[in-house]
Amino acid sequence: MSFKPGILAIGAIIAVFIVSHIVFAPEDHDMRTTITTMLGGIAFLLMTSSVVLSTRLSVLEDMFGGLDRMYQVHRVAGVSTAVFALGHFFGVPKDLPTGVDPSLHPLVPSAPLGMFALIVLVLGLFIALNRKIRYSLWRPTHRSMVLVYLLVVGHFMTAPTIFFQKFSASGTVLMIAGAMGVISAFYSVFGMNRRTAQNFTIESVNALERATEVVLKPVDKVFDFKPGQFAFVEIEGKDWNEPHPFTISSSPGEDRLRFTMKVLGDWTRKVREKLKPGGKVQVRGPYGRFDYTKAGDKQIWLAGGIGITPFLSKLRAMKEDDQRHIHLVYAVREENEALFLGELIRICAKLQGVTIHPLYSDRGEFARVKIMKEKLPDALGTYDYFMCGPKPMIDALRRDLKKEGVALNRIHTEAFEFR
Ligand SMILES: Cc1cc2nc3c(=O)[nH]c(=O)nc-3n(C[C@H](O)[C@H](O)[C@H](O)COP(=O)(O)OP(=O)(O)OC[C@H]3O[C@@H](n4cnc5c(N)ncnc54)[C@H](O)[C@@H]3O)c2cc1C
Repeated sequence: MSFKPGILAIGAIIAVFIVSHIVFAPEDHDMRTTITTMLGGIAFLLMTSSVVLSTRLSVLEDMFGGLDRMYQVHRVAGVSTAVFALGHFFGVPKDLPTGVDPSLHPLVPSAPLGMFALIVLVLGLFIALNRKIRYSLWRPTHRSMVLVYLLVVGHFMTAPTIFFQKFSASGTVLMIAGAMGVISAFYSVFGMNRRTAQNFTIESVNALERATEVVLKPVDKVFDFKPGQFAFVEIEGKDWNEPHPFTISSSPGEDRLRFTMKVLGDWTRKVREKLKPGGKVQVRGPYGRFDYTKAGDKQIWLAGGIGITPFLSKLRAMKEDDQRHIHLVYAVREENEALFLGELIRICAKLQGVTIHPLYSDRGEFARVKIMKEKLPDALGTYDYFMCGPKPMIDALRRDLKKEGVALNRIHTEAFEFR
């Protein structure tokens, strides 16, 4: 994960909190209280970051480099929250110091609220990280984390002043963060989905090799998006459960929205077998910052299987006089899995600067850095790389490109998973 401004901002807020907590520690705090309440504060700031990130705001996408990156940070922040919260729980004194009047410093309701929040947090995290749990079950459980957040706010706002002083320097940082977190939590639950939802009807459902192309006609007009962006697709009807993210494979100029969905699990299989034209669909987006227009003129695009969808949109949108030099490597298992290959070859033939290189693993052809080194006219470090495909393929390529000295800010990837 590269250090985008958003990650630096989280680090800076935590640093301000730690410094103010230690430098301006109340005189009646012993060392143990200072350290363990600091751990609790760090846990809360990390949890607040997770909650703020779940608003999916566009400004945050800019700061973190896209929604998929935001979800990665969200996950790391979530796990770290639990680690710091456990440190806080096991370390913090369970009783008031001798001589302190319990009626002036009541431990209830703060202590039970904190305890309950921690138990639900750890359970929720176990579910969140368990990939065996189906997404349709995972999502509502994960959303209940908003309640945990509110419990944690209750925990420290009712904490006895011997442990937490609201208007101390570090207490103020936590209260500002808490206000932002609570607003974000309510926005995520009640406001976000309404803000971005757009209505479409299904115009056609086209069966492809182990995939389906769904063509949507807008009720109003297709929203603005950039090639390579994605959206959440929610089909109306009791059989269809939750929204699913898909890259928009049409170009922004079209009056229809097209998605290409690989059959992977229950939902995508149902799309292929049961979805019929005429149904209603809500699309929320666009999201993502997989934008080739902000990189240099020499680019390598690497698509693994269904990872072709962002490049489909980019190529469908590209003007014939585009000055960029692009090599599109399209790696699939076998030739009939190379979706839209004919169309891609036709488009690339018209575009002067774009060449396509299909690779078939059943013929022993793999997307490897060694081949690129042999075939590319210039040194690897002079290109920008855009990669989308299975995680092992992307991870291996990124690692090998790094070894070859390619700068990390030249490697752009799109992750097809959020969990
Ligand atoms: C940014 C992004 C862009 C994507 N673009 C495409 C695309 O253009 N074409 C394509 O075929 N696939 C794309 N995917 C993947 C696609 O979302 C999943 O394959 C699909 O949701 C699987 O659903 P399922 O129930 O059939 O499979 P399952 O077997 O239930 O899920 C397979 C994987 O998809 C994840 N997933 C399942 N449901 C959801 C959901 N509602 N929200 C988020 N993740 C979920 C699961 O965690 C699991 O990792 C994209 C994913 C992301 C995150």
